[in-house]
Amino acid sequence: MLTRPDLNRPVEPSDRRPHAVVIGSGFGGLAAAIRLGARGFRVTVLERLDRIGGRASVLKQDGFTFDRGPTIVTAPFLFEELWTLAGKRMADDVDLRPLDPFYRIRFDDGSHVDCFRDTDAMRREVARIAPDDVAGWERFMVLAREICRIGFEELGHKPFSSFTDMLRIAPDLIRLQGWRSVHGLVSTFVREPRLRTVLSFHPLLIGGNPFRTPAIYCLIPDLERRWGVHYPIGGVGQLVDGLAGLVVTLGGTVRVGADVTCIETQDAHATGVRLATGERIPADLVISNADTATTYGTLLAKAAPRRWSDRRLARVRHSMGLLVWYFGVQGHLDDVNHHTILLGPRYKGLIEDIFERKKLTEDFSIYLHRPSASDPNVAPGGCDAFYALTPVPNLDAAIDWSIETERRRKAIEMRLEETILPGLSHRIVTSHVISPVDFRDDYLSARGAGFGFEPVLTQSAWFRPHNRSEAVDNLFLVGAGTHPGAGLPGVLSSARILDGIVPHASAFVH
Ligand SMILES: Cc1cc2nc3c(=O)[nH]c(=O)nc-3n(C[C@H](O)[C@H](O)[C@H](O)COP(=O)(O)OP(=O)(O)OC[C@H]3O[C@@H](n4cnc5c(N)ncnc54)[C@H](O)[C@@H]3O)c2cc1C
Repeated sequence: MLTRPDLNRPVEPSDRRPHAVVIGSGFGGLAAAIRLGARGFRVTVLERLDRIGGRASVLKQDGFTFDRGPTIVTAPFLFEELWTLAGKRMADDVDLRPLDPFYRIRFDDGSHVDCFRDTDAMRREVARIAPDDVAGWERFMVLAREICRIGFEELGHKPFSSFTDMLRIAPDLIRLQGWRSVHGLVSTFVREPRLRTVLSFHPLLIGGNPFRTPAIYCLIPDLERRWGVHYPIGGVGQLVDGLAGLVVTLGGTVRVGADVTCIETQDAHATGVRLATGERIPADLVISNADTATTYGTLLAKAAPRRWSDRRLARVRHSMGLLVWYFGVQGHLDDVNHHTILLGPRYKGLIEDIFERKKLTEDFSIYLHRPSASDPNVAPGGCDAFYALTPVPNLDAAIDWSIETERRRKAIEMRLEETILPGLSHRIVTSHVISPVDFRDDYLSARGAGFGFEPVLTQSAWFRPHNRSEAVDNLFLVGAGTHPGAGLPGVLSSARILDGIVPHASAFVH
């Protein structure tokens, strides 16, 4: 098991490497810190909270270990690469286990589909619920393979710094029907409404509305099948600790409780950052892993040039909000899978209420995480650990979360009790709940969005804030708010892109 090294080692006075400051210790920030460390920079990661990992940080309460955010780990090679860069083996630090089935999707009428990596098992599931759609599903998965090859393997690792990059991919986008929505493309292949849902819900995992997210995101079902869905024993926090350890291995530092209030510039060059305490930290490079709207709207010195003006930021579509309830129960609910999605009675109508009409409705869907299904150590003996997540409107809506948080939590508890967790209310031994207000206050996420900028076509690729600041030299962006976008593969890819656009360390030797 991993032991976390001292993250905040003092800098050796003899260390003459150029200095890179990374604002934020989310997966994007940690991955960027490792890549820069491996390329000869002295790296300091500055995290405003008292814990590392950002949305992927860990909540420990009453003997339970809850991953606060991501639970579905895909494309593990992107993590392995980071260990390799630090001269280590991931398998020595993290025990990553594949899950098959990946997850169960339960419909409101009580029927369900298990989503398998194994093609024959998945074909049987499709044939069971939609016998007339098997051929259409097979054709869809062939197209999803091609979309993943182009959209993830080729374009996900390239910066979209100029409009020419966008024009270059136009023929592929047209050929792969990228102008359609995810749900629109799926619907041209299969007819059964439940199967359409199973093949189209994935954008919700990265803050997108399946009825508006471009069809290029049909890459996710293939990405899951190609590299699997995984769970690290001990929780996703093991990956966070592992990456922070690699930063230190490469001679870097991770400081918590370091709230950056300003990115300082001179002559349109980033020169360092200032903390809330007034401390100034000079740097040759600044990498922001903070929310993009916050980076440009709040952190960047007011006098600095920027393409993302306040007016432009005001027009941005932010992803939906999330309400997440972490709870522990007495006893084991062995019938419940590691990952279950419990859909409500409505699909399109509910999604439009959340994303477009910004209404907190009486009906809702739930993603239920039960890590103790794979890993008893995340709960005390005789107990199970869970989290239940529902998409909700972001803070664009005038919802009083001081009242609605508990009301929605209670509604989730009742829904789970009457469906797959009978007797739940008598078994709860620990509980903690967060709403969009916590996303705003903790992660400084604009509008309390769960995933940053919404992945619509007009906010993707070249249209998304670039990995290299358009106006300030030596300022770079990583994480969900820049290209390619949210989700672990996306934010790790954003850090990988830096390898191609950050000048070599020798360019900074004074
Ligand atoms: C509940 C939930 C479930 C999810 N499930 C999945 C999943 O199963 N699979 C998946 O692939 N993805 C999932 N995601 C998405 C994924 O977790 C995120 O896209 C990803 O973790 C975001 O990483 P990031 O690098 O953008 O940084 P973030 O995690 O957003 O971290 C940014 C960090 O910067 C810090 N910061 C901000 N401003 C400052 C400042 N001024 N000074 C210092 N520090 C600052 C913040 O405190 C934070 O720690 C989920 C997200 C959520 C919220």
